[in-house]
Amino acid sequence: MGMSYRQYLQGARIYGCSSCKTHLATIHSMISRAFNGQHGRAYLFDTVVNVVEGEPSDRQMTTGNHTVRDIYCVKCGTTLGWKYDRAYEPTQRYKEGKYILERNLLTDVQ
Ligand SMILES: [Zn+2]
Repeated sequence: MGMSYRQYLQGARIYGCSSCKTHLATIHSMISRAFNGQHGRAYLFDTVVNVVEGEPSDRQMTTGNHTVRDIYCVKCGTTLGWKYDRAYEPTQRYKEGKYILERNLLTDVQ
């Protein structure tokens, strides 16, 4: 993935990549648990670190059309979820610039 520098988070609860334990996000940046990913339940986060963003693509979801980028773990390359670049429905605009992480691909780390 070309980038080896990794950021370490501090906080009461830290979510990491389930394959390599790289820190990804804290409970404090979680916005919602009520999302669905490609593999089941997913969480919406305000801030995520240690991910690489892919190319933007348009995706039709139950909440309308969105421009998203897949996000990959900077260490092991696992696809962890996606980032919302743009939401076309006005009611979904709050998701722009935010990140989805798949619950099944996360683990608690300290
Ligand atoms: Zn990883």
